[in-house]
Amino acid sequence: MPIAEEALRAAKVLHPDEGFMPRPSKRRVLTVANQKGGVGKTTSTVNLAAALALHGVKTLVIDLDPQGNASTAIDVDHRSGTPSVYELLIGEVSLVDAAQVSSQSDNLLCVPATIDLAGAEIELVSMQSRESRLKEALTDEALAQLDVDYVFIDCPPSLGLLTVNALVAAHEVLIPIQCEYYALEGLGQLLSNIELVQKHLNRTLSVSTILLTMYDGRTKLADQVTQEVKNHFGEVVLKTIIPRSVKVSEAPGYGQTVLAFDPGSRGAMSYLDAAREVAERGVEGKQE
Ligand code: ATP
Ligand code: MG
Repeated sequence: MPIAEEALRAAKVLHPDEGFMPRPSKRRVLTVANQKGGVGKTTSTVNLAAALALHGVKTLVIDLDPQGNASTAIDVDHRSGTPSVYELLIGEVSLVDAAQVSSQSDNLLCVPATIDLAGAEIELVSMQSRESRLKEALTDEALAQLDVDYVFIDCPPSLGLLTVNALVAAHEVLIPIQCEYYALEGLGQLLSNIELVQKHLNRTLSVSTILLTMYDGRTKLADQVTQEVKNHFGEVVLKTIIPRSVKVSEAPGYGQTVLAFDPGSRGAMSYLDAAREVAERGVEGKQE
């Protein structure tokens, strides 16, 4: 690839003088969910959040997966014993005390997940208001104190109580879908769980955003899946599609988002474009 082109892209990612992304009319809380493993939930969470943060929009990521992959990519401390989302769920720390600032941007915050979260799915079962513990922790006061415009909640690959907590705490669901053969399998189950939550626990929840990930232009299949998803979900699907890119998969190994790791890469650019779409939808009057 020509170096000049890459440098231009890097400049776009790193020097947001060409325009900050718009702040939302109201604070947005998005849960990134898909019970299917490895579809790009964490990658999308951290890179969308980083893109918004780099462009002036203060963003909080809540790592709700005991694997702690989002905490790794954002590079916040998540050794056992660190105040984390586990303590937040059991009411031992406040949101403000659990949130850490990323070394990659002052606008990027993260409540980490430690290994202590691994037992939470079972511990929660016997707790009072077990489905709404995260919601109770994400108070307007605490979010205002952190001064964040966006909250992204990264879910584990299951539909258990952690994901239910995320769905109850959010206004919107963002579903990443991998462009491959079994992409739509299991989606019905996710959607019916979302409906149940809407019915009983969170009336205002909506599936606002679908992001196609790991697109491989060499395969016909990727185009078929893309078309099928667009036919099924319409306007909710972001126009930007995230390509399969080695840089995207390498970045977490360096404790970085792809925007920090290789801002000139196609992967970084596509997450930047996707984040801009998300941000534009958040401005009143522009919402589709
Ligand atoms: P889990 O269900 O385990 O939480 P996930 O849905 O969060 O997984 P990721 O961890 O984001 O999925 O991605 C799965 C794997 O695919 C990771 O190794 C990641 O680095 C890689 N990956 C994600 N997006 C891309 C991409 N656009 N190009 C190449 N690799 C990618
Ligand atoms: Mg993940």
